[in-house]
Amino acid sequence: MGNRLSGKVAIVTGGNRGIGRAIAERLADEGALVIVGDLRDDRSADSGGVERLTFMSLDVTKEASIRAFVDGVLQKFGRIDVLVNNAGMVIHKSIDEQTAEDWDRLMAVNLRGPFLMAKYVVPEMRRIGSGTIVNIGSVEGYMVNPWHTAYAATKAGVHGLTLGLAVDLGPDGIRCNTVCPGWIDTELNRAYVEMHPDRSLIERELGQLHPVGRIGAPKEIANAVLWLASEDSSFVSGEMISVDGARTKKISLPAILDEEYRAKLTKPQP
Ligand code: NDP
Repeated sequence: MGNRLSGKVAIVTGGNRGIGRAIAERLADEGALVIVGDLRDDRSADSGGVERLTFMSLDVTKEASIRAFVDGVLQKFGRIDVLVNNAGMVIHKSIDEQTAEDWDRLMAVNLRGPFLMAKYVVPEMRRIGSGTIVNIGSVEGYMVNPWHTAYAATKAGVHGLTLGLAVDLGPDGIRCNTVCPGWIDTELNRAYVEMHPDRSLIERELGQLHPVGRIGAPKEIANAVLWLASEDSSFVSGEMISVDGARTKKISLPAILDEEYRAKLTKPQP
């Protein structure tokens, strides 16, 4: 607990669960008044800490919903200092299976949503003369898993949006950065792991892909978001910061040559 965001009002999209919930709780820990915008106005959603958060319904694919949400936050809380564009989804399909509707849906949630959220929040940040926007991109904005063509395109788009917002809004005192998570234990990719019959083998092998020896936890993304949302990062804007246990820094080797290295890498999650 601290006061790095004391007196600030922060919005977190998609904060009912997973990474978004961890971000909302971390910002609240540091004194921010946090409004979670998600499809369901979900006061009963999982873990503790819910009473510290305000829940308002929001569909980031609908411009009218975004406008009503931002108006509602301003009416109730009077200002917006921090916007975290976290809501996102993934579709695992080959290019042959992927439909135009799948593509449009992913773009609407993952890329058009963050653009529209920024568009409606920025006038308020300009009014108060400061603000920080933190997007959740992905290491899949610059590397890609099989069957993620559309997802990777949306995340690369988020990285481009970050550059544009940082340049256009810098003169207004508004910073924009992106956190690029690696493999984080949430429902988004739990289904992917559960498709495999030997779950413990998959979990061990996933851990071994990371030089730190394990996959990440939502709170480790939340810590990076807090830093970017706070004054501790006051000269940082337009950056894509990977939080991935160095997974994207290690060049792949044939498994047989990598055995000794992998054998050392079996650490439990924090
Ligand atoms: P989850 O699927 O666990 O949570 C996503 C949240 O976003 C859910 O609460 C969901 O609501 C909400 N949401 C979905 N669509 C909308 C919408 N149209 N409007 C408002 N809210 C919406 O995902 P994660 O926590 O894992 O992912 C969070 C972000 O992190 C995403 O942007 C994702 O792409 C990114 N990311 C995740 C990684 C990982 O390994 N987990 C890796 C890299 C990036 P509902 O439950 O109602 O569907």
